[in-house]
Amino acid sequence: MWWSAPRSIVPRLRRVAAGEEEAEFGDLRPWCSCDTAKMSTSEGYRRGLHELGDGCHAYLQPDGSWGWSNAGLVVGDGASLLVDTLFDLPLTRTMLDEMVVHTRTAPIVTLVNTHANGDHCYGNELVGQAEIVASVATAHEMSEVPPAMLAALNAAPGEVGDLFRSFFGAFQFDGITLTPPTRTFERRLDLEVGGRHVELIEVGPAHTAGDTIVVVPDAKTVYTGDILFIGGTPIVWAGPLSNWVAACDLMLGMDIETVVPGHGPLTDKGGIAQVRDYLDFVEREATARHDAGLDAWDTARELARTIGAREDFGTWGEFGRIAVNVETVFRSLDPSHTTPDVVEQFRRMARLEAGSPA
Ligand SMILES: [Zn+2]
Repeated sequence: MWWSAPRSIVPRLRRVAAGEEEAEFGDLRPWCSCDTAKMSTSEGYRRGLHELGDGCHAYLQPDGSWGWSNAGLVVGDGASLLVDTLFDLPLTRTMLDEMVVHTRTAPIVTLVNTHANGDHCYGNELVGQAEIVASVATAHEMSEVPPAMLAALNAAPGEVGDLFRSFFGAFQFDGITLTPPTRTFERRLDLEVGGRHVELIEVGPAHTAGDTIVVVPDAKTVYTGDILFIGGTPIVWAGPLSNWVAACDLMLGMDIETVVPGHGPLTDKGGIAQVRDYLDFVEREATARHDAGLDAWDTARELARTIGAREDFGTWGEFGRIAVNVETVFRSLDPSHTTPDVVEQFRRMARLEAGSPA
């Protein structure tokens, strides 16, 4: 099944889809969840807590594909701030256990949810004693896709269930109590955690309706949430893409050195610039095809082929997300454009990545 293929296989799948190579996958089995392509270029990209210096930490979950998100911990004097929880309770519990070495003496008093996607907030109940901070838009959006909905989709029979399990079958959505923010803000919020200054900046709508980045100026560190996918393709659910490009420009202009993405290995301003380039490319190319009268699905299929031939973001995982990204460009160009429902959008991403043009 394509979704369990390591990303090193993706370029080959693409060549097969383009008719440039015979489909001979026998030598590729068993496909494992390890990510040889990305690991070889991302030294130290391993699951667990990573010390960044100056009391900042990142919790990374390779391979960074669907649901495998990162989180962060900022440790101050006697108090800590957690950036995001994980997709389910066992994963979040494991992460919090690993953080105990720091949180025993500096308990988590503040949890920031960068956005409303479940892989960044479904573990909130395990940090329920902390103040939970998010943007107003994120707090609102969090109630729209409750864990019970994903649990039901994952348990659904037939094609729809198979489709969702192909993306999210590794996670346990049963028994999660959605735990919403207890404090909300708009645009910007300055926090003090254990004597440290932390800045929350709302840069959405972009990936979702209310994306927030978390900046720790004294450590020259930024936790970006899903404003950055590294080694994987950004997915623009909300848009417009110009907001996301502006968020990249904002970060590129900051005095920061360490960048913790929402998915993928640690990066720096070079990683931000690559994501900006991708978004700029998609906006330009999709707009040109829209103006030439192509429909969104034909545009997505054409751009998937174009991207596959590129040496920069052509090597990224989850390239099928171009289907969602083109829809978002088309909506921003034409407010009357109707985007298919979310099941159909997942279907299209799966089809593109399986190399099936139907
Ligand atoms: Zn995410």
